[in-house]
Amino acid sequence: MMSKLIQGYEVVIGFETHTQLATQSKIFSRASTAFGAEPNTQAAPVDLALPGTLPVMNKGAVECAIKLGLALGSTIAEKSIFARKNYFYPDLPKGYQISQFEIPVVQGGLVEFYLGDEKKTVRLVRAHLEEDAGKSLHEDFIGQSGIDLNRAGTPLLEIVTEPDMRSSDEAVAYAKELHKIVTWIGICDGNMQEGSFRCDANVSVRKPGAELGTRREIKNLNSFKFMQQAIDFEIRWQIEQIEDGKKIQQATVLFDPDTGETRAMRTKEDAADYRYFPDPDLPPLHVAPSWVNDVKATMPELPRVMAQRFVSDYALPEYDATQLTQSQSCAAYFETAAKACGQAKLASNWVMGELSRRLNQEEKSFEQSPVSAQKLGALISRIHDGTISNNAAKQVMDAMWTEGGEVDAIIEAKGLKQMNDSGALEKIIEEVLAANPDNVAQFKAGKEKAFNALVGQAMKASKGKANPSQVNEMLKAKLAAA
Ligand code: ADP
Ligand code: MG
Repeated sequence: MMSKLIQGYEVVIGFETHTQLATQSKIFSRASTAFGAEPNTQAAPVDLALPGTLPVMNKGAVECAIKLGLALGSTIAEKSIFARKNYFYPDLPKGYQISQFEIPVVQGGLVEFYLGDEKKTVRLVRAHLEEDAGKSLHEDFIGQSGIDLNRAGTPLLEIVTEPDMRSSDEAVAYAKELHKIVTWIGICDGNMQEGSFRCDANVSVRKPGAELGTRREIKNLNSFKFMQQAIDFEIRWQIEQIEDGKKIQQATVLFDPDTGETRAMRTKEDAADYRYFPDPDLPPLHVAPSWVNDVKATMPELPRVMAQRFVSDYALPEYDATQLTQSQSCAAYFETAAKACGQAKLASNWVMGELSRRLNQEEKSFEQSPVSAQKLGALISRIHDGTISNNAAKQVMDAMWTEGGEVDAIIEAKGLKQMNDSGALEKIIEEVLAANPDNVAQFKAGKEKAFNALVGQAMKASKGKANPSQVNEMLKAKLAAA
């Protein structure tokens, strides 16, 4: 498919995403990975790079990598190698970062998602295990900088794509899908503000059919909104440079949310600048097929598989199934409600509509919903069996939301039952016809609007409790007979 061109240029984007793994302890030490502690209270001798200390691989971090590989259909290397990536920086006391270079643990794989109606596939190059660095804290008020090594040694899985994306929209959709997957399989808490999921976007532009252009890498995008703004700015900037006859220099850039602009931080290093070599302190990482199988047995049903099941088991449209599997908690809520009432499509409408609207408004998650999935199911049953109208159901929802209570008790207490007594309804309709001879005459003269007016009168006379379709039918019959 031809991708959308901007001023005659095709956009090319590849992503490198650092996901902090949800292990209790660090990748090579037993220090805690919890966020927000006092500086340097969670730094073991290994994290401080004290002489004589040796790294020991955290098995839990490897299991996270295996899970990602299983979720994305990657090859999981039976033997991978840790390497030293050498560079000088104050927050890196060893002078090198332990990473995987030539042979990473996760190789290949695909991320599939929808961009509107269009299915997109982004190929992964690799995902490798590495340690995070510490942080420099710039204390402007005393004019000094300090180093916090709590983050040093936090396990990361760096997930690298091929340059397969062709627009900022596609890049953001990819990042959202990856975010959904890593949180779904429980390897990352997904907290972008705390830096648990950080994306580097490599962006270049070219004339269609030309070789890949020179890329600039936008570092550390930690919100989807900034991601979109930063990439859009970068695309415009690069096109402008080229149109002005300038060449793009490969560079690492930062996005400044205040100005909405990217600016160069440093010219890009090459791999050779890092003088990678295998880390003699760590033996090769062995992942036996039996270990992969054991991990596989602990994996939850994946979102795509679950969506397919919703389509086949509950006869839901694909759109509904995709929406409902945006998160595990939404999917679980839907399934419980659908099972409780046996009306999957109604349950889907309520979960995606009324319920999501209320949760969003109050910034609550599905787990925090004041109305349980069981209760929503009970409410839907009462709509389906004709006890209450849709409008009355919203009143019941209101009551349960603010005060709690049971569906049937609320219907009773508020007198919301639809009038299913055809004798009583017949009487109301006769009265309405007798009281509105003008409307009857107009209807007979062929004016459709007069019929609606009669329906309205009958609904009003029943105090909204009549079933509108029953009113319609009965009115038609009476008018035909009159
Ligand atoms: P490095 O390791 O030096 O950052 P890689 O070749 O591993 O470089 O690529 C890093 C990322 O940049 C990958 O996601 C890749 O898809 C992407 N990329 C490579 N070339 C381009 C390009 N010309 N335009 C956009 N993205 C690119
Ligand atoms: Mg890079």
